[in-house]
Amino acid sequence: MNYRHAFHAGNFGDVLKHIVLALVIEHLKAKETAFRVIDTHAGIGRYDLAGDEAERGDEWPDGIGRIVAAAPPADVAALIAPWLDVVRAENEGGTLLTYPGSPLIARRLMRRQDRLTAIELHPDDGAALAALFSGDRHVTVRIADGWASLKAVLPPPERRGVVLVDPAFEVAGELPRLGEALVRAWRRWPTGTFIGWYPVKGRAPVDALHAHLADSPIDKLVAVDLFVRDPESAGRLPGAGLVVVNPPWTLPDALDRLMPWLAETLAQGPGAGFRVRRLKAA
Ligand code: SAM
Repeated sequence: MNYRHAFHAGNFGDVLKHIVLALVIEHLKAKETAFRVIDTHAGIGRYDLAGDEAERGDEWPDGIGRIVAAAPPADVAALIAPWLDVVRAENEGGTLLTYPGSPLIARRLMRRQDRLTAIELHPDDGAALAALFSGDRHVTVRIADGWASLKAVLPPPERRGVVLVDPAFEVAGELPRLGEALVRAWRRWPTGTFIGWYPVKGRAPVDALHAHLADSPIDKLVAVDLFVRDPESAGRLPGAGLVVVNPPWTLPDALDRLMPWLAETLAQGPGAGFRVRRLKAA
């Protein structure tokens, strides 16, 4: 396990993932009944943007760095507000020094009745995550394999909630593995929402993931891809995407409004753009 998210925290992939995670959680909050958030590859929860790893990775200036410097139109500002308010609250002085990871964003958005299960396999990162949420009875941290844990944690007692599957993609075959895991997880908890994150290194493997899910019994599915440069180009990661199973009914239209601005703001070269694919009617 060589992957450390501290090198990548706050990059364009995090921005897309965390905006959508926050939108899903905000939608869950429209009803009083409790929901569960499950983060299968949770990381450490809080990242130091002035730290050695973030500095060497040098990715956040072209992600969250650009967002805080931008002036989005009012409808986009409203869509990104739930996430951006959490980022701002982590950086009270106004200078961007810290970036919250997915479990911390979820925890900040949750209510008294909601619960978070955060899973991380790396022993050091798992220990940091456990320390972050130490004494918080709303949060359970498991230092375990996120893929295998899906079986143990699904279904949760709550009928409603969201599972974020955000692997490190260090080993070959994690894209098909993501597709298979999402179908299995949905079968265990058909009322849950599932968000799967993936890197885009060419369209073909992503199209294969979309086709696998579209051919499955899952009946509500949307995908969104963000390309910061031509998705077929070599070198630094050109894009990232999400599949959302059982998306909130508002999500596809929200993505249509968000993505033109996000793709323009985060573009790094020729071929930048996005696509929103309604793979199964939401
Ligand atoms: N979800 C986090 C966020 O958005 O802030 C970032 C997670 S990062 C992309 C992937 C994480 O998965 C890393 O912290 C890595 O240590 C962890 N990891 C790798 N293999 C794992 C596994 N089999 N089960 C659980 N966690 C794993």
